[in-house]
Amino acid sequence: MIYNRCGASGLLLPAISLGLWHNFGGIDDFETCRSIIRTAFNAGITHFDLANNYGPPPGSAEENFGRILKSDLAGYRDELIISTKAGYYMWEGPYGDWGSRKYLTASLDQSLKRIGIDYVDIFYSHRYDPNTPLEETMGALDFAVRQGKALYAGISNYPAEATKRASEILRKLGTPCLVHQPRYSMFDRWVEEELLDVIDEEGIGCIVFSPLAQGLLTNRYLKGIPSDSRAAKPHGFLKKEQITKETLKKINKLNEIAITRDQSLAQMAIAWLLKDIRVTSVLVGASSSEQLSINLQSMLNTYFSKEELEIIYNTLNME
Ligand code: NDP
Repeated sequence: MIYNRCGASGLLLPAISLGLWHNFGGIDDFETCRSIIRTAFNAGITHFDLANNYGPPPGSAEENFGRILKSDLAGYRDELIISTKAGYYMWEGPYGDWGSRKYLTASLDQSLKRIGIDYVDIFYSHRYDPNTPLEETMGALDFAVRQGKALYAGISNYPAEATKRASEILRKLGTPCLVHQPRYSMFDRWVEEELLDVIDEEGIGCIVFSPLAQGLLTNRYLKGIPSDSRAAKPHGFLKKEQITKETLKKINKLNEIAITRDQSLAQMAIAWLLKDIRVTSVLVGASSSEQLSINLQSMLNTYFSKEELEIIYNTLNME
């Protein structure tokens, strides 16, 4: 495994981290969850990413991870970076959503109970809340760190300008922002406009989510929609409607480019993100150990020639 420094911090994160958004909930097969996590840790993936609402049902991914931590990773807590988040809807009433100090503080306590640990390594504000003063949300992250319930503070899905302000506030509070977690893939490049420059200037690390566009940037949908795929599941966030003719055309073309590089499409899509040194870690999801093992091979070739990059950009811009 390659470990990259997370921004200007002392923390190293694996180039590939594992996310537990899909496939680790109460409705999923527990032994498969266990096997993916064991495969990850054995391959040097030290970082596991959670959020309060991951499941379904919400909270169950944290519970499952806690069980596996106890049964399979007991004794390895000091080799693990465990993160969780609060910011999306979690419970009824005015205190279970968005970015108030009340919500974040209560939610972190609940997460710690579900996972069965005393502290998380990274606690995130899951999304920017335009109706709560940023000072309050960042103050809640700082409070979590000062209480010893989190070691580092992170933000996710924050636009560039709010990221800059959040970083300034956190620095003043003495809890510098460790990491930003934005969506970034060949199919979704919004971070390139401004955000990557801001986090670089601010000394914040970057861990990018949905690097495979939830499975689109793999061989999963080349021949239709498999019944066990995310797009086929009623609770999956990838919708069948997103697999359009135009998208399939691009996927097929990208797949051909990947073959010329001796990579699978998934491997090329991950390598393409890792080529940017501002990307600390690529946060992948997986529904099997096999998928994860394939993805881990991406690190073997993260070099892209000028010609390859041009063909890729032309493909992505194809009408
Ligand atoms: P990906 O884009 O990596 O999609 C993962 C899916 O791609 C898998 O479930 C699987 O689909 C498919 N896949 C993975 N590897 C392969 C392979 N080698 N061959 C074929 N198919 C493959 O990431 P996610 O969307 O799952 O997000 C990753 C993590 O990012 C989350 O778990 C979470 O931790 C974080 N995240 C954070 C968000 C935030 O707001 N901060 C929002 C979303 C995610 P299938 O299940 O169909 O087999």
